[in-house]
Amino acid sequence: MEGYLNTTHELLSALGINHSSFCRFVSWALCEHLATSLVHDPQLPNSWLSDPEGLKNFRDYLRHTTQRHWSVHDLNALFDRVRSGRATHFREPVPYAEYLKLLWQVPFECAKCKRKPPEVQLHVDHIVPASKGGKSTRANLRFLCAKHNLRKSNKREEGEPWLDLQ
Ligand SMILES: [Zn+2]
Repeated sequence: MEGYLNTTHELLSALGINHSSFCRFVSWALCEHLATSLVHDPQLPNSWLSDPEGLKNFRDYLRHTTQRHWSVHDLNALFDRVRSGRATHFREPVPYAEYLKLLWQVPFECAKCKRKPPEVQLHVDHIVPASKGGKSTRANLRFLCAKHNLRKSNKREEGEPWLDLQ
């Protein structure tokens, strides 16, 4: 086993990838994988996702299928993700008040490359995409230039695990 880990270390350093950012990325990918597999799990009825008692059923089911205990934080995060994954999506428009808050509170520049208009055109970006349950509220909004907005597409930022796994 130790030999295997050493090989992983060697591989990562050969590729110039930082070990802790690799671990963060893997955790993030596993969170996404678990949520996606639950969204498509035929044994998980939709009635649990709307029923007030549903969270309890969801917890028991998750405990049973994963053979581990889940923290309240992670349970809620997963439950929300599965629920929004099953719902039909439409992008809610950004309320004017939230847009104004954004304008007041952050510099009018791309959050990634710091370039400003007129050099670039700025878009309002959902940090957690609307298709994944992200809200159109100030805390979930930022400015991105066209280039960075397109690159991001519909993906969550990589390397930010959203489960504590504790
Ligand atoms: Zn940019």
